Amino acid sequence: MPPSNSRFQRLSQAALSRSQFLQLAAGALVPFVGLPPSAAAAKNPVLAQNGGAPGTKDAAASDRMGAVLVSQFGPVKIHSYLSPLDGFHVNTQMIEGPTAVVIFDGQLLLSYADEVASYVQTLGKPIERIILSHAHTDHWSGLQVLTERFPDTRVFALDGIADQLRARGQARLDSFRPIYGDRIATKVTVPTEIIAEGVQRIDGITYDFRRFVDAESDLQLAALLPEQKVLMAFDLVFSPNEHAFTVVDHFDHWMIVLEQLKALQDYDTITIGHDTPVHRSAIDSTISYVKRAKEIHVASADAKTYNESLKAAFPDLQHAEWVDFSARLLYAGPR
Ligand SMILES: [Zn+2]
Repeated sequence: MPPSNSRFQRLSQAALSRSQFLQLAAGALVPFVGLPPSAAAAKNPVLAQNGGAPGTKDAAASDRMGAVLVSQFGPVKIHSYLSPLDGFHVNTQMIEGPTAVVIFDGQLLLSYADEVASYVQTLGKPIERIILSHAHTDHWSGLQVLTERFPDTRVFALDGIADQLRARGQARLDSFRPIYGDRIATKVTVPTEIIAEGVQRIDGITYDFRRFVDAESDLQLAALLPEQKVLMAFDLVFSPNEHAFTVVDHFDHWMIVLEQLKALQDYDTITIGHDTPVHRSAIDSTISYVKRAKEIHVASADAKTYNESLKAAFPDLQHAEWVDFSARLLYAGPR
């Protein structure tokens, strides 16, 4: 059993205070991501569970393959579902307000999206909406399950995302099919509503939606929760302990975007697209990673060279297999 496990077990027994959460966000949870996915999932079905009143414990937690981290900010709870490694450790964020839940992103693999749906049902509140952060398949494939299980729920995304999915979604699913078979979606779930940029209140919670282009993806939503001081950065920011995805040649502009995020001084907690929340210092480590990846890309004529050089530059980072994935797409031409 990894030495960190007892800490998780203790945490799962008790409510997580904000300071504890920030401690976790600063790195205490990191050993979790180094476990093989099956071990991690089996031993830590709930990293910290403080949702619900006493007696409403999630009965499915012990069987869950993914992990759920719950963090509380006054009346608002953020439930972060983290998939096992074969689902790219992708997050679905569930923002629970006084009367409803807003879901961000829908998982890669259908079975994990199904776990998200079952989990959100335990909260006992209607889903106000689903919001898709960007058009990469690991974030939307499982929307097929969520929209089947919650057929009345509207799916929002930035203007342009629906067009990207109509144009390239099926090809992206087809490219994953040889690896995942029927574990990924059979059809593309296209968002039907456009999320407006700027400040809006949903279920009494203030969101400030921001639109960023040419970073980890061509078009990426970020959401600020100013009252909770939380930045939902999705795939703009990666964990300091893991490789980032570098699937498109937007290195320079991605660094500009990261500097813009860094200028948001008050946001100490950052939820990210893959892995548990991080401290704002992860913006700096992501900048360093993207800068080095850019240098290596400039110097590498082919995917193999890029792949080997990037792994060699960051020998201690987890998920070297993500570099295989990035190198293949980065050198496959425009996407
Ligand atoms: Zn992603």
